[in-house]
Amino acid sequence: MPELPEVETVRHGLENHVVGRTVETVRVLHPRAVRRQPGGAAEFETALGGRSLDSARRRGKYLWLSVGEDALLAHLGMSGQLLVGEPGRPLSPHVRIRFTFADGGPDLRFTDQRTFGHMCVVRDGAELPAPIAHIAPDPFEAAYDPAVLARRLRARHTGVKRALLDQSLVSGVGNIYADEALWRAQLHYARATETLTRPAVARLLAAVREVMGAALAHGGTSFDALYVNVNGESGYFDRSLDAYGQEGQPCGRCGTPIRRDAFMSRSSYFCPRCQRPPR
Ligand SMILES: [Zn+2]
Repeated sequence: MPELPEVETVRHGLENHVVGRTVETVRVLHPRAVRRQPGGAAEFETALGGRSLDSARRRGKYLWLSVGEDALLAHLGMSGQLLVGEPGRPLSPHVRIRFTFADGGPDLRFTDQRTFGHMCVVRDGAELPAPIAHIAPDPFEAAYDPAVLARRLRARHTGVKRALLDQSLVSGVGNIYADEALWRAQLHYARATETLTRPAVARLLAAVREVMGAALAHGGTSFDALYVNVNGESGYFDRSLDAYGQEGQPCGRCGTPIRRDAFMSRSSYFCPRCQRPPR
């Protein structure tokens, strides 16, 4: 599943390859890909034809293109990709939406094998589309305030990893980066937020920014080959993961084998020695 660094890579690709261009045609090839669009595929197609894509923006795992005062909002889901390429290339059976441009240059294809992702046009959504207005800023936005987040986090009565994954507290932190940040901060995933000291929270939030920043610099993690960036290139951050997916491997700090626990229908990877379980 793409996390913030992967989505940022896609945003950057859209900025380079489609921003500033005028849409000529839009074709929805699978109605599920526009299931959140009021008016369905017909509305989606007519809302964008002939309009210019002005900027590519992101909050957490959502990204949008501003189209005048409106927004073209995208969520990549589990397997969504936005691919830019020569218009004449073969159309894969997983292409759900195709955009062509008035300049006759490279087209844009929303490809999604499992169709958990979707796109929709949000009226007056250029600054912040209404469907994602409840999502908290992510650690790389100007609106992100670590002091406010630290206070809200310590006021919660929940496990620290659950809090990190709660998009109304902070957005963009998924399972991989939560495990990596907790490993760096030497905190067990189930530690109760109200028992965390101020310095521990500061250490954790710094670790979140570090691991996500490192992944951003590498173009995101790509461990399952379903995700590629806007041009079809994979990221390679998976080579430098310390905890996530490392079950049985020696901890990079103390050598104890990394453990995997079931967690919220997924997994948590941690070092049982550096990240002591709460009593
Ligand atoms: Zn360890």
